[in-house]
Amino acid sequence: MSIRPDKTLDLPLGAEVSQPAVRVLPIARGKTQQQKLISDSTVLRISTALQASLHVKDVIHAFANEIRRIVRGVSLRYQNRARQILIEDGSKQPHHCSYELNLLDDSLGEVVFTRGQPLSEHEQELLEVLLCALVYPLRNALLYEQALTQALKDPLTGINNRASMDAYLKHQVLVAERHKNLLSLIMLDIDLFKSINDTFGHVVGDVVLRAIADAIVNCTRDSDVVFRYGGEEFVVILTNTGGEGAAFLAERIRQSVAALEIEVLANHTSITVSAGVAQFRTGDLPTDLLSRADEMLYAAKTQGRNRVHTTIV
Ligand code: GH3
Ligand code: MG
Ligand code: MG
Repeated sequence: MSIRPDKTLDLPLGAEVSQPAVRVLPIARGKTQQQKLISDSTVLRISTALQASLHVKDVIHAFANEIRRIVRGVSLRYQNRARQILIEDGSKQPHHCSYELNLLDDSLGEVVFTRGQPLSEHEQELLEVLLCALVYPLRNALLYEQALTQALKDPLTGINNRASMDAYLKHQVLVAERHKNLLSLIMLDIDLFKSINDTFGHVVGDVVLRAIADAIVNCTRDSDVVFRYGGEEFVVILTNTGGEGAAFLAERIRQSVAALEIEVLANHTSITVSAGVAQFRTGDLPTDLLSRADEMLYAAKTQGRNRVHTTIV
């Protein structure tokens, strides 16, 4: 049962982050007595809690904890469709009240409060005041996560980029060395990709790159991480997997790419990849593992392309 129609809280961009955010809503709505709803010390405590992390998940959970100290028994769901974020704190309950948060033209997403008992008018006013304290920390966390994504993801394919691979491989090599874990790496390169660009143009080339990145990701398990290593080169890092398992996956990727039907290529012969596989050896540096995979890839290319080469099998 809905106890109140959905609402949109529009907050002025000009409001100072350092100002007590609770003032924003009462001024905007002309209800001066709401300024007294929550004491300054409570506002300070909530602001501090919400600024403890720049991760959206942490901010939302901290907010949920704080609101439950003031409005008992409330569960919260935060959704930002554009960013594909859904965070739930507490289980869904029958009575609900939802708010669309906007900072001028910037949509920050939707917050839904639910509870077993209906929320009184006074409690809803409290929630609205509390939402004002959420807006700036939430906006900052969304911006921070967006910046992180931009730093670590390849914008064309949406998969992890080279910088993210360097950091991940370095870490996994340390873990494999310390715990004597298996670790393998597959290096993939699209065959004769230059001819795709030359024949169909770069825009089509980009579409093909994306399709191949998707095909590689679709072949992998959650524990395998895929990176765009260079222009038309990809790397898959497989933790707790030896060279044989990695060669098996590389072959699966090869077959799956060869079977792709890419509309923009019309009747062009199918596109293929070559792959080189290497397994971590004690004492390896990340560059050693990459070099061996690259040597295997080179062998696959020189022996005719559309094949997987490995030192293991
Ligand atoms: P090989 O089988 O030996 O790998 O041949 P190849 O043609 O794939 O290799 P080459 O290194 O000669 O060409 C790679 C091509 O990949 C050339 C470059 O323009 C293209 N490429 C690299 N990055 C991108 C990109 O982001 N988009 C497009 N469309 N093409 C790219
Ligand atoms: Mg290449
Ligand atoms: Mg190539």
